[in-house]
Amino acid sequence: MIAAAPIRKLAQVVADAIAAGEVIERPASVLKELVENALDAGASRIDIAIEGGGLVRILVADDGAGIAEDDLELAVERHATSKIAVADDITRVQTLGFRGEALASIAAVSELRLTTRTRGSAGGATLHVRSGHVVSRGAAASGPGTRVEVCELFATSPARLRFLRSVATEGSAAVRVAADLAITHPEVVFTCTNDGRMVLRTAGGTLRDAIRAVIGARAERDLLDLDAPGSIAVGGAISSPHAHRASRSGLVLIVNRRLVHNRALLAAVDESYRGLIPGGRHGYGVVSVEVSGAALDVNVHPAKREVRFSDERAVFSAVQRACWVALRAAPALGASGYAPSGFANGGLEVRESDVAVVGQVMPQLTHNAGGLSADVGARTPGAASTLPAMDALGQAASGFLVATAGDAVVLVDPHAAHEKVLYMELLARWHQHAPEASGSQLLLMPVVVECGPDRASRVADEHDFFSRCGFTIEQFGPGAVRCTAVPLTAAGADPELLVADLIERLDDHDAGTEDRRHRLAALVACHAAVRFGDRLDVVAQQRLLDQLVATPGGTTCPHGRPSVLILDDATLRRAFRRPAR
Ligand code: ADP
Ligand code: MG
Repeated sequence: MIAAAPIRKLAQVVADAIAAGEVIERPASVLKELVENALDAGASRIDIAIEGGGLVRILVADDGAGIAEDDLELAVERHATSKIAVADDITRVQTLGFRGEALASIAAVSELRLTTRTRGSAGGATLHVRSGHVVSRGAAASGPGTRVEVCELFATSPARLRFLRSVATEGSAAVRVAADLAITHPEVVFTCTNDGRMVLRTAGGTLRDAIRAVIGARAERDLLDLDAPGSIAVGGAISSPHAHRASRSGLVLIVNRRLVHNRALLAAVDESYRGLIPGGRHGYGVVSVEVSGAALDVNVHPAKREVRFSDERAVFSAVQRACWVALRAAPALGASGYAPSGFANGGLEVRESDVAVVGQVMPQLTHNAGGLSADVGARTPGAASTLPAMDALGQAASGFLVATAGDAVVLVDPHAAHEKVLYMELLARWHQHAPEASGSQLLLMPVVVECGPDRASRVADEHDFFSRCGFTIEQFGPGAVRCTAVPLTAAGADPELLVADLIERLDDHDAGTEDRRHRLAALVACHAAVRFGDRLDVVAQQRLLDQLVATPGGTTCPHGRPSVLILDDATLRRAFRRPAR
């Protein structure tokens, strides 16, 4: 249990050593400071109320250590803190706050009421401050803990108000802060109401519990747990490849239980999705990193949002590796993750749950594909197909293939299907260790790609890796590379585009060979696969379907999108209002 430590006014030298700056910009920043104080006070329960976007009222009540009665006025004075005493303490700081500025800054621009009781004391005390001036103080009935009420925020600072967004936006930004803090402190019970409506409630448990409480029902379906212990430990949960979003804002980064912004780590997460989700889309979830305090500098940003690592590269790699491991283990996309929206509107009513998209084996249809065509190459031994054998019927003008499988009708995305076939083929080839097994094809015309000296020398460094994957690619002058051979599988690709893309996506950070192989395979497959709109004659259609059936995990493309849609007999009967058989 944390006892209330005495609050001291920091000496000017210590105050000066602390990164200065305005921390109170909007209601959300007030909420953040108040909740962080509650956490620093060892609270096990924090109740939050937001009204009028936080401009009317923000209330944070905790059951923490409380503030000693004699310290009440000091608490709202600038540079008064119980958390550090000398400048050196800053480097060891374990608490979320330490600048002793927040309450003073908030009190200066609002009407603030502080009611508190320390565990040992008989009664509580309260202090009322308006625009930085003490209005009153006195005894008050209070349970152990602290209750801070901030009303009329910025009412006397019209300049500040002008920079705020709508009440709804400010309110939801504040709720977001509460949710983020609930995740950084999963063992604490959090509740939060916004204009009287309960918007957040965590039970106080593990990180997993808190993430699920905050994200809600989607979490169960979307999230993959991260679990990489070590000197740089990575935990949390990120969305599986089918659940990407348009912006990065759904990704929460936590470092040593602090919410942080860190471009490099965001990039590390993004990078691990590369090849798994469409370009420009992002995963969401929570990535939590634990490093030893010595490897971290938190005193970079006044609101403590930025952190600096002594070895950022190592942290980057650890995050990327952890994400990649989780993503690779992602189960194939379930039918519920994919809404065949076009179907729902027409005369046919096909509910999402009716449609077997992926990984759903229909026992009566499943049988092993005998006709493994010669050019498919080796397969992962023992991996069973999850698709029934299919007979091609034709290709819709839009590009989709139509097939039957027993009494089911199957629609196939030819690009996604071919991509997956090629991807698995490449991986299988690269796993056969003999060098020639990679299967390389010399280009009639070598391609030269200008890429600048940095990238060119990176390509040179990677020469061995590429040649083991079937590329012959070398530096060609100071700022260009030349490619003279590509993997057999890439024979259908435009080599110039492929090599340019490959260089573009060279990692700056060292992922494991296995990760890089997967990514390279996805890239090559994407380039070499038939385009979605390409016309395929019926022989090519059938060959592709056979290959897909023989491919483990053939129900999704390497990026996790579905490659097939199976309308089984029962579904069709339901749709056509025919009695079930
Ligand atoms: P800092 O958190 O940087 O120390 P603040 O201005 O946020 O500065 O708070 C000043 C001091 O008031 C803290 O150091 C702490 O001693 C006390 N305090 C503020 N909020 C609480 C709380 N909820 N419970 C206990 N003590 C608190
Ligand atoms: Mg504080």
